[in-house]
Amino acid sequence: MNEDITLNPQNPSEGMAERQREELTLTRDAEPQMRQQMQIQYANGIQCPHCGTMNDPEAIYCASCGNPIGKTACPNCGAEVDPDADFCESCRRYIKFDVCSFCGARLSGSDAFCPECGSPRGGIVCPVCHTLNDFSFCKQCGTALTDEARELLEKVHELPAFKELQRLATSVQQLEQSIPYASDRDLLKDQRNIKLRERVLTLLAEDRGIAHPEIPEPENKRLSKEEYDARKKERLEQIAAILDKMVQPPHPSPAQVRNYAMACRPQGVRLAWECNFKHALHSSPCGCAKPQLGGKWIIFGKDVKKEIKDDL
Ligand SMILES: [Zn+2]
Ligand SMILES: [Zn+2]
Ligand SMILES: [Zn+2]
Ligand SMILES: [Zn+2]
Ligand SMILES: [Zn+2]
Repeated sequence: MNEDITLNPQNPSEGMAERQREELTLTRDAEPQMRQQMQIQYANGIQCPHCGTMNDPEAIYCASCGNPIGKTACPNCGAEVDPDADFCESCRRYIKFDVCSFCGARLSGSDAFCPECGSPRGGIVCPVCHTLNDFSFCKQCGTALTDEARELLEKVHELPAFKELQRLATSVQQLEQSIPYASDRDLLKDQRNIKLRERVLTLLAEDRGIAHPEIPEPENKRLSKEEYDARKKERLEQIAAILDKMVQPPHPSPAQVRNYAMACRPQGVRLAWECNFKHALHSSPCGCAKPQLGGKWIIFGKDVKKEIKDDL
């Protein structure tokens, strides 16, 4: 990039040095002009990135289209937050005190419980893992905490796509609990065990008067390292394909997106939620400031370059 070239004093190429000088001159010439432009922009206010309207420099919402354009301070820790964010990613607290975090209904100053869904304003303690939650599903263990959440969970679990997703996730979990052959000695030992099993089963059958019994294949045949890797890769790809189809679309209510995403999460594989806000990875949409922009679950494995932002 340009910056790297101009900043690097030991540039070996002559042509590069020439270009460097040119660029430096260009930058120097452009500088006062740019500063001037910025001042004009500042004096006139801020331009809305959504509709182009110039707004008051202190505006938080666009006067024309109503989209958020400025920043506000988190009422809890003071960190800079988007005005339409209901969760602060710095102090990890719910910050829209006039909106029910569980269902999105409007709250008045004195309500201790939401008049719409009956949830307590102070949060719900998960009966399974005892984590205090501001949202309808436990961010730690995924338990549905409200009646609405339990109903949604039942509905999503009836979807054929979710059933297939859960079946695959369980099969990956079972696969991970099995131990593939590590060496030829392992293989020999296993073959000896299979022969022993056949002999015992044959003897037992003969005791019952069956001369040539049919011995069923062992149910969980051990896999070689290659078979194990190939099967796991295949399963994870199938899971990723279903997760791609079950994306959580944008919705004006952040509560709706959080709840739907949490209901779609299968048990058994490690997932991260990738938001459309900053394309950050969260351990769940409960850790995102603006889930209303939508997002999706992705498999969190060693191939994922990004770190989870808010590991619990
Ligand atoms: Zn606008
Ligand atoms: Zn905060
Ligand atoms: Zn509510
Ligand atoms: Zn829990
Ligand atoms: Zn996010």
